Amino acid sequence: MKVTIGHLYPDLFNLYGDSGNVQCLKQRMAWRGLEAEVCPLCAGDEIDFGKLDIVVWGGGSDKGQALAVDYLAEIAAEFKDYVEDGGVVLAVCGAYQLLGKYYKADETMIEGLGILDIHTERCDERLVGNVVLDSPLFRMPVVGFENHAGRTIIGDCTPLGKVLYGRGNTGDGGYEGVVYRNVIATYLHGPLLPKNPEVSDWLLERALKRRYGEDVRLTELSDEAELRANRNMVERLVTGL
Ligand code: GLN
Repeated sequence: MKVTIGHLYPDLFNLYGDSGNVQCLKQRMAWRGLEAEVCPLCAGDEIDFGKLDIVVWGGGSDKGQALAVDYLAEIAAEFKDYVEDGGVVLAVCGAYQLLGKYYKADETMIEGLGILDIHTERCDERLVGNVVLDSPLFRMPVVGFENHAGRTIIGDCTPLGKVLYGRGNTGDGGYEGVVYRNVIATYLHGPLLPKNPEVSDWLLERALKRRYGEDVRLTELSDEAELRANRNMVERLVTGL
């Protein structure tokens, strides 16, 4: 079994080591003797969504987001079809914002893809720091790091989790991220996946099931270091308080 990972716009969106998410997915496949091919998809490249099993799209500055708008318009329809067809996506921060309808940054209106029924507005105070979430999708808390000026209004969308520590979508709403079909959209950098093995395997298993059938199960990994790193953050930020 193999997955093809499309790393979207690594030339415009790669804040805080988010490309580590791609390396993490590839490594977790390799540890199981499975192959993962990584396709960097730079601004302006032709994208064949039919070949992709997972799209990983990292955080980006307001400038990078504005530069991406024209390229996004070219792939918007196919990207939406991919998502509606159960295509797996991990979108972090600037990418999360652009999956929505728009990001209003001061006087500039940055058009999003409108795949998620959410929108974002910039505020002067940046929300910066560690985050711990309780997500119904996972047994372990999700840990990461946020750094954003945007406040994301998710309306009736399903959040990724409840904020146990940190600020989240709006700073005071108590929730973080969005889950929609096989999309996880979140403000959490880190990169996110190395300290959250359950999130990694959620993405991989959904991608493999979509391509090879519902019976696919990933073998367990020991995840000793990953679990220790996760626990360390939870104890430092939440249970140790
Ligand atoms: N430019 C966006 C914000 O500050 C996204 C930043 C990011 O991707 N870290 O809200």
